[in-house]
Amino acid sequence: MNSGLPPLSLYNTLTRQEELFEPLDSGNVRLYVCGPTVYDYAHIGNARPVIVFDLLFRLLRNVYGAEQVTYVRNITDVDDKINSRAARDYPDLPLNEAIRQVTEKTAAQFAADVEELGTLAPTYQPRATDFVLPRPDGKPDMVSLIEKLIAKGHAYEAAGEVLFDTTSMPDYGRLSGRNLEDNLAGARVAVDTHKKNPADFVLWKQSSADEPGWESPWGRGRPGWHIECSAMSAAYLGEVFDIHGGGLDLIFPHHENEIAQSRCAHGTHEMARVWMHNGFLQVEGQKMSKSLGNFVTINELLATETFGGRRWPGEVLRLAMLMTHYREPIDFSVRRLEEAETKLRDWQRATGGVADEDGAAPDASVVGELAQDLNFHRASVALDFIAKRANRGEGDARHCLAATLRFLGFSLDGLLANSSDEEPAHVAAAVAARLAALNSKDFAEADRIRSELAEQGIALMDYKDPQSGERRTKWELKR
Ligand code: AMP
Ligand code: ZN
Repeated sequence: MNSGLPPLSLYNTLTRQEELFEPLDSGNVRLYVCGPTVYDYAHIGNARPVIVFDLLFRLLRNVYGAEQVTYVRNITDVDDKINSRAARDYPDLPLNEAIRQVTEKTAAQFAADVEELGTLAPTYQPRATDFVLPRPDGKPDMVSLIEKLIAKGHAYEAAGEVLFDTTSMPDYGRLSGRNLEDNLAGARVAVDTHKKNPADFVLWKQSSADEPGWESPWGRGRPGWHIECSAMSAAYLGEVFDIHGGGLDLIFPHHENEIAQSRCAHGTHEMARVWMHNGFLQVEGQKMSKSLGNFVTINELLATETFGGRRWPGEVLRLAMLMTHYREPIDFSVRRLEEAETKLRDWQRATGGVADEDGAAPDASVVGELAQDLNFHRASVALDFIAKRANRGEGDARHCLAATLRFLGFSLDGLLANSSDEEPAHVAAAVAARLAALNSKDFAEADRIRSELAEQGIALMDYKDPQSGERRTKWELKR
């Protein structure tokens, strides 16, 4: 046990139970999360793993130290969906050029969208296409991994493809709880004749002249979907690391196959110690997904009025996502967003405009609740309690609330600032008069103006301007 550190427990899909988390090296805690395939705007379902694992990243940084955590989230920029999008959107460009246009534009959009959601940038965001061929820096790459798998008898060439031989790995299927017979039954409908076993999956496939491809020992081709994460995780985190995350749908086949590739190539008995999976975000009981056409993009929510007739601040989306435990399904609705907005505004209001203090520690009880498999619900109850104390003006509750909100990825006043947008002239005048009274220490007059405004349902909050240190006042209409 690491004495002095709060115990952290996480649900592990691999063992199907919550376990005490102990990093392999507390000086470098290592987390890998499968990132987006960059061919189109990300939908709000895609935002769920981004937000959930950002919360985990923040928690780990708090427990082990910000410099002691390495978080890798890849960008998948090789995929057949990308190819067809490139051909459709840029018919006049050579394919490679068109692909670059699509992936760069989409990756930049993704980065901008998720920053709005209050997420920290991962330590590394490698792109798959940089890890196909052997690299000058000698970091693991896909072609070398596949060569290793062939050399060790775990992969074979057939009909121009390289396939992973699932029967070469006795415990293939442990993560998803599938055995080879299940896979056999599922695949019986369409058995690919060149596969030795129906469950075998593609490591490398041939590219035709008009498809993107790399020269390899097996001809010009491109990697299968799973091998990229085996290469990039090994490149930044090593052969065995602490936590691997993603959405529930990735357990099979993606994560199962990542495990098979990495363990067999490196000869290890595990790839990552803990496997964590977020539940789906749903609309009317169905997974939100591009293929079902029932999706709304992060960007539409932030920048247009397509959902509920208005725009939604990123931090409201963030809280709406975290209000449900990460392993449960979420039903996405306007009501949920409104609830999140009200709650976040209450918290922000209760900080009373205290100045930001960089690096101030978040509340220990909030951290303690999150340390139990990211129990955000109980953490938010603890936060409500601090907000109550802050509203009563107790001790340093306001500062504690402010530090905790920042730790959780929320601003201190993002939802309050809006309320002075259409400031009626008489309120502005009264607020200015009260500030003048305060500055000349005429507290009786200041109080009189405050209660006069209170009678009109207007609440005042004083704060110090972070730059000039001057006293300022915000106001808000209480309903
Ligand atoms: P994709 O681009 O479809 O590979 O998805 C990127 C990430 O978003 C993966 O971790 C998926 O598991 C996750 N994801 C996709 N759809 C949803 C959804 N509706 N709810 C939660 N997570 C999702
Ligand atoms: Zn992956």
